[in-house]
Amino acid sequence: MQVLNTESALRMHLADRGRSGSVGFVPTMGALHQGHISLIKRSKAENSLTVCSIFVNPSQFNDPRDFERYPRQHEADTAMLENAGCDILFSPSAETVYPGPDTHTYRLGPVAERLEGRFRPGHFNGVASVVKRFLEMIRPDRAYFGLKDYQQYLVVRHLTEEYKIQTEIIGCETVRDPDGLAMSSRNKLLSPTDRRKALELFKSLSAAKDAVKRGEKSGLKSIGENYFIGSEKPRLEYFEIADGETLKPIGDGDISRIAHPVALVAAHVNGVRLIDNMALR
Ligand code: AMP
Repeated sequence: MQVLNTESALRMHLADRGRSGSVGFVPTMGALHQGHISLIKRSKAENSLTVCSIFVNPSQFNDPRDFERYPRQHEADTAMLENAGCDILFSPSAETVYPGPDTHTYRLGPVAERLEGRFRPGHFNGVASVVKRFLEMIRPDRAYFGLKDYQQYLVVRHLTEEYKIQTEIIGCETVRDPDGLAMSSRNKLLSPTDRRKALELFKSLSAAKDAVKRGEKSGLKSIGENYFIGSEKPRLEYFEIADGETLKPIGDGDISRIAHPVALVAAHVNGVRLIDNMALR
Protein backbone atom coordinates (compact mmCIF):
# COMPACT_ATOMS: atom_id res chain seq x y z
CA MET A 1 0.00 0.00 0.00
CA GLN A 2 1.24 3.48 -0.89
CA VAL A 3 0.84 6.13 1.80
CA LEU A 4 0.58 9.57 0.16
CA ASN A 5 0.16 13.00 1.71
CA THR A 6 0.22 15.51 -1.14
CA GLU A 7 -2.01 16.19 -4.10
CA SER A 8 0.90 16.00 -6.56
CA ALA A 9 2.02 12.57 -5.27
CA LEU A 10 -1.55 11.35 -5.51
CA ARG A 11 -2.03 12.62 -9.05
CA MET A 12 1.26 11.09 -10.18
CA HIS A 13 0.37 7.75 -8.68
CA LEU A 14 -3.13 7.69 -10.16
CA ALA A 15 -1.81 8.71 -13.58
CA ASP A 16 0.63 5.77 -13.44
CA ARG A 17 -1.66 3.04 -12.19
CA GLY A 18 -5.32 3.81 -12.00
CA ARG A 19 -6.41 4.84 -15.43
CA SER A 20 -6.09 1.43 -17.04
CA GLY A 21 -9.06 0.33 -14.92
CA SER A 22 -11.57 1.90 -12.55
CA VAL A 23 -10.75 3.72 -9.32
CA GLY A 24 -12.83 3.26 -6.16
CA PHE A 25 -12.66 5.75 -3.30
CA VAL A 26 -13.52 5.38 0.40
CA PRO A 27 -13.41 8.65 2.39
CA THR A 28 -12.98 8.28 6.16
CA MET A 29 -11.95 10.18 9.26
CA GLY A 30 -9.84 7.26 10.52
CA ALA A 31 -10.17 5.34 13.81
CA LEU A 32 -11.10 2.54 11.46
CA HIS A 33 -13.33 -0.43 12.27
CA GLN A 34 -14.96 -3.25 10.32
CA GLY A 35 -17.63 -0.87 8.97
CA HIS A 36 -14.93 1.06 7.13
CA ILE A 37 -13.23 -2.15 6.05
CA SER A 38 -16.49 -3.42 4.50
CA LEU A 39 -16.40 -0.32 2.24
CA ILE A 40 -12.79 -1.04 1.27
CA LYS A 41 -13.71 -4.66 0.41
CA ARG A 42 -16.66 -3.57 -1.70
CA SER A 43 -14.47 -1.09 -3.56
CA LYS A 44 -11.79 -3.73 -4.13
CA ALA A 45 -14.39 -6.13 -5.52
CA GLU A 46 -15.67 -3.52 -7.99
CA ASN A 47 -12.52 -1.58 -9.04
CA SER A 48 -8.94 -2.18 -10.11
CA LEU A 49 -7.58 0.39 -7.65
CA THR A 50 -8.87 1.45 -4.22
CA VAL A 51 -8.00 4.74 -2.55
CA CYS A 52 -8.91 5.36 1.10
CA SER A 53 -8.57 8.82 2.60
CA ILE A 54 -8.10 9.59 6.26
CA PHE A 55 -8.77 13.20 7.13
CA VAL A 56 -10.46 14.49 10.27
CA ASN A 57 -12.24 17.36 8.57
CA PRO A 58 -12.45 20.37 10.92
CA SER A 59 -15.15 22.10 8.85
CA GLN A 60 -17.77 19.40 9.47
CA PHE A 61 -17.52 19.58 13.27
CA ASN A 62 -19.97 22.10 14.64
CA ASP A 63 -18.65 21.40 18.17
CA PRO A 64 -14.89 22.09 18.62
CA ARG A 65 -14.69 19.71 21.63
CA ASP A 66 -16.01 16.89 19.44
CA PHE A 67 -13.21 17.62 16.93
CA GLU A 68 -10.53 17.63 19.64
CA ARG A 69 -11.60 14.37 21.26
CA TYR A 70 -12.29 12.54 17.97
CA PRO A 71 -10.19 9.32 18.16
CA ARG A 72 -6.98 9.30 16.10
CA GLN A 73 -4.88 6.13 15.61
CA HIS A 74 -2.81 6.44 12.48
CA GLU A 75 -0.60 3.36 12.90
CA ALA A 76 -3.44 0.95 13.65
CA ASP A 77 -5.43 2.41 10.72
CA THR A 78 -2.52 1.95 8.32
CA ALA A 79 -2.14 -1.69 9.39
CA MET A 80 -5.87 -2.37 8.95
CA LEU A 81 -5.89 -0.87 5.46
CA GLU A 82 -2.77 -2.81 4.52
CA ASN A 83 -4.42 -6.05 5.69
CA ALA A 84 -7.59 -5.26 3.78
CA GLY A 85 -5.58 -4.87 0.56
CA CYS A 86 -6.17 -1.14 0.08
CA ASP A 87 -3.89 0.23 -2.68
CA ILE A 88 -3.47 3.87 -1.63
CA LEU A 89 -3.91 5.59 1.71
CA PHE A 90 -4.25 9.32 1.13
CA SER A 91 -3.73 11.20 4.33
CA PRO A 92 -3.36 14.91 3.52
CA SER A 93 -2.76 17.87 5.82
CA ALA A 94 -5.45 20.53 6.34
CA GLU A 95 -3.40 22.89 4.12
CA THR A 96 -3.48 20.38 1.26
CA VAL A 97 -7.25 19.95 1.52
CA TYR A 98 -7.99 23.65 2.08
CA PRO A 99 -5.29 25.74 0.37
CA GLY A 100 -7.58 28.79 0.74
CA PRO A 101 -10.31 29.72 3.23
CA ASP A 102 -13.25 27.31 3.20
CA THR A 103 -16.17 29.75 2.99
CA HIS A 104 -18.31 28.49 0.09
CA THR A 105 -21.97 27.64 0.74
CA TYR A 106 -23.04 24.57 -1.23
CA ARG A 107 -26.45 23.94 -2.76
CA LEU A 108 -27.49 20.75 -0.99
CA GLY A 109 -31.27 20.87 -1.24
CA PRO A 110 -33.95 20.34 1.43
CA VAL A 111 -32.58 16.91 2.40
CA ALA A 112 -29.60 18.64 4.07
CA GLU A 113 -31.80 20.92 6.17
CA ARG A 114 -33.61 18.22 8.14
CA LEU A 115 -32.54 16.12 11.17
CA GLU A 116 -28.71 16.31 11.32
CA GLY A 117 -28.88 19.58 9.35
CA ARG A 118 -31.07 21.12 12.04
CA PHE A 119 -29.13 19.83 15.03
CA ARG A 120 -25.66 20.34 13.55
CA PRO A 121 -25.68 23.67 11.70
CA GLY A 122 -22.96 23.85 9.05
CA HIS A 123 -22.19 20.13 9.30
CA PHE A 124 -23.31 19.12 5.80
CA ASN A 125 -21.71 22.18 4.23
CA GLY A 126 -18.42 20.97 5.74
CA VAL A 127 -19.06 17.43 4.49
CA ALA A 128 -19.86 18.79 1.02
CA SER A 129 -16.69 20.87 0.84
CA VAL A 130 -14.40 18.01 1.83
CA VAL A 131 -16.14 15.41 -0.33
CA LYS A 132 -16.18 17.69 -3.39
CA ARG A 133 -12.50 18.50 -2.91
CA PHE A 134 -11.53 14.82 -2.58
CA LEU A 135 -13.63 13.85 -5.60
CA GLU A 136 -11.87 16.55 -7.63
CA MET A 137 -8.41 15.43 -6.48
CA ILE A 138 -9.00 11.68 -7.00
CA ARG A 139 -11.66 11.67 -9.76
CA PRO A 140 -12.80 8.16 -8.80
CA ASP A 141 -15.27 6.16 -10.87
CA ARG A 142 -17.11 5.11 -7.70
CA ALA A 143 -17.16 6.38 -4.12
CA TYR A 144 -18.42 4.27 -1.22
CA PHE A 145 -20.46 5.66 1.67
CA GLY A 146 -21.98 3.85 4.66
CA LEU A 147 -25.75 3.85 5.06
CA LYS A 148 -25.01 4.19 8.79
CA ASP A 149 -24.80 7.91 7.92
CA TYR A 150 -27.93 7.69 5.80
CA GLN A 151 -28.58 11.42 5.51
CA GLN A 152 -24.94 12.03 4.56
CA TYR A 153 -25.31 9.45 1.77
CA LEU A 154 -28.39 11.29 0.43
CA VAL A 155 -26.66 14.69 0.70
CA VAL A 156 -23.57 13.42 -1.15
CA ARG A 157 -25.75 11.97 -3.90
CA HIS A 158 -27.46 15.34 -4.23
CA LEU A 159 -24.07 17.10 -4.29
CA THR A 160 -22.77 15.00 -7.20
CA GLU A 161 -25.99 15.53 -9.19
CA GLU A 162 -26.12 19.27 -8.47
CA TYR A 163 -22.46 19.85 -9.38
CA LYS A 164 -22.38 17.28 -12.22
CA ILE A 165 -19.56 15.25 -10.67
CA GLN A 166 -19.00 12.05 -12.66
CA THR A 167 -18.57 9.71 -9.69
CA GLU A 168 -21.11 7.02 -8.88
CA ILE A 169 -22.10 7.18 -5.19
CA ILE A 170 -22.64 3.74 -3.68
CA GLY A 171 -24.36 3.16 -0.33
CA CYS A 172 -23.16 0.19 1.76
CA GLU A 173 -25.07 -1.62 4.52
CA THR A 174 -24.36 -0.76 8.16
CA VAL A 175 -21.99 -3.15 9.91
CA ARG A 176 -23.01 -3.91 13.51
CA ASP A 177 -21.47 -5.54 16.55
CA PRO A 178 -23.04 -8.93 17.39
CA ASP A 179 -25.47 -7.28 19.85
CA GLY A 180 -26.65 -4.81 17.20
CA LEU A 181 -24.72 -1.64 18.10
CA ALA A 182 -23.72 0.09 14.86
CA MET A 183 -19.94 0.24 14.59
CA SER A 184 -18.65 3.79 14.92
CA SER A 185 -15.31 5.45 15.58
CA ARG A 186 -16.99 7.30 18.44
CA ASN A 187 -17.77 3.95 20.18
CA LYS A 188 -14.07 3.96 21.14
CA LEU A 189 -14.90 6.83 23.53
CA LEU A 190 -17.51 4.77 25.45
CA SER A 191 -16.91 2.97 28.77
CA PRO A 192 -18.48 -0.52 29.12
CA THR A 193 -21.44 1.08 30.97
CA ASP A 194 -21.83 3.75 28.28
CA ARG A 195 -21.71 1.08 25.60
CA ARG A 196 -24.61 -0.80 27.25
CA LYS A 197 -26.61 2.43 27.30
CA ALA A 198 -25.75 3.06 23.65
CA LEU A 199 -27.62 -0.13 22.72
CA GLU A 200 -30.89 1.76 23.25
CA LEU A 201 -30.39 3.32 19.81
CA PHE A 202 -30.45 -0.09 18.13
CA LYS A 203 -33.30 -1.28 20.39
CA SER A 204 -35.47 1.74 19.59
CA LEU A 205 -34.99 1.32 15.84
CA SER A 206 -35.62 -2.43 16.05
CA ALA A 207 -38.81 -1.83 18.06
CA ALA A 208 -40.15 0.46 15.32
CA LYS A 209 -39.25 -2.11 12.68
CA ASP A 210 -40.85 -4.96 14.66
CA ALA A 211 -44.03 -2.90 15.01
CA VAL A 212 -44.16 -2.53 11.21
CA LYS A 213 -43.67 -6.30 10.85
CA ARG A 214 -46.66 -6.80 13.19
CA GLY A 215 -48.74 -4.65 10.84
CA GLU A 216 -48.68 -1.31 12.69
CA LYS A 217 -48.72 1.68 10.36
CA SER A 218 -48.59 4.67 12.70
CA GLY A 219 -47.37 5.70 16.15
CA LEU A 220 -43.85 4.51 15.32
CA LYS A 221 -42.06 7.67 16.45
CA SER A 222 -43.56 7.32 19.95
CA ILE A 223 -42.53 3.67 20.10
CA GLY A 224 -38.92 4.69 19.45
CA GLU A 225 -38.95 7.72 21.75
CA ASN A 226 -40.10 5.56 24.68
CA TYR A 227 -36.64 3.96 24.77
CA PHE A 228 -35.14 7.25 25.91
CA ILE A 229 -37.34 8.03 28.89
CA GLY A 230 -35.48 7.97 32.22
CA SER A 231 -32.26 9.42 33.63
CA GLU A 232 -30.22 6.27 32.87
CA LYS A 233 -31.03 6.46 29.17
CA PRO A 234 -29.07 8.23 26.43
CA ARG A 235 -30.13 11.87 26.04
CA LEU A 236 -32.30 11.88 22.94
CA GLU A 237 -31.78 14.53 20.27
CA TYR A 238 -34.30 13.09 17.84
CA PHE A 239 -36.04 9.86 16.96
CA GLU A 240 -37.83 10.38 13.67
CA ILE A 241 -39.72 8.38 11.08
CA ALA A 242 -39.12 9.78 7.60
CA ASP A 243 -39.52 9.17 3.91
CA GLY A 244 -36.26 7.46 2.94
CA GLU A 245 -35.95 9.42 -0.30
CA THR A 246 -36.60 12.99 0.91
CA LEU A 247 -36.18 12.57 4.68
CA LYS A 248 -39.45 14.44 5.10
CA PRO A 249 -40.58 13.59 8.67
CA ILE A 250 -43.72 11.49 9.12
CA GLY A 251 -43.75 11.59 12.93
CA ASP A 252 -46.45 9.33 14.35
CA GLY A 253 -48.35 9.48 11.05
CA ASP A 254 -49.31 6.68 8.67
CA ILE A 255 -46.43 5.15 6.68
CA SER A 256 -48.67 3.10 4.32
CA ARG A 257 -48.09 5.35 1.31
CA ILE A 258 -44.35 5.74 1.84
CA ALA A 259 -42.30 3.43 -0.39
CA HIS A 260 -39.19 3.47 1.80
CA PRO A 261 -39.91 4.56 5.37
CA VAL A 262 -36.86 4.81 7.59
CA ALA A 263 -36.34 5.41 11.31
CA LEU A 264 -33.44 7.67 12.30
CA VAL A 265 -32.08 8.43 15.75
CA ALA A 266 -29.44 10.69 17.35
CA ALA A 267 -28.64 10.59 21.06
CA HIS A 268 -25.85 11.47 23.48
CA VAL A 269 -24.26 8.91 25.79
CA ASN A 270 -22.08 10.56 28.40
CA GLY A 271 -21.23 13.42 26.04
CA VAL A 272 -20.65 11.20 22.97
CA ARG A 273 -23.08 11.85 20.14
CA LEU A 274 -24.22 8.70 18.31
CA ILE A 275 -26.49 8.24 15.29
CA ASP A 276 -28.11 5.22 13.70
CA ASN A 277 -31.00 4.39 11.37
CA MET A 278 -32.97 1.47 10.00
CA ALA A 279 -35.14 0.86 6.96
CA LEU A 280 -38.61 -0.09 8.23
CA ARG A 281 -39.51 -2.36 5.29
P1 AMP B 1 -16.33 8.19 9.21
O1 AMP B 1 -14.89 7.79 9.35
O2 AMP B 1 -17.13 8.00 10.45
O3 AMP B 1 -16.49 9.55 8.57
O4 AMP B 1 -16.95 7.16 8.18
C1 AMP B 1 -16.39 6.96 6.90
C2 AMP B 1 -17.36 6.15 6.08
O5 AMP B 1 -17.59 4.89 6.71
C3 AMP B 1 -18.73 6.83 5.96
O6 AMP B 1 -19.22 6.65 4.65
C4 AMP B 1 -19.55 6.09 6.97
O7 AMP B 1 -20.94 6.09 6.67
C5 AMP B 1 -18.98 4.69 6.86
N1 AMP B 1 -19.28 3.92 8.07
C6 AMP B 1 -19.10 4.31 9.36
N2 AMP B 1 -19.56 3.37 10.22
C7 AMP B 1 -20.06 2.37 9.44
C8 AMP B 1 -20.68 1.12 9.73
N3 AMP B 1 -20.90 0.70 10.98
N4 AMP B 1 -21.07 0.34 8.70
C9 AMP B 1 -20.87 0.75 7.41
N5 AMP B 1 -20.28 1.92 7.08
C10 AMP B 1 -19.89 2.72 8.07
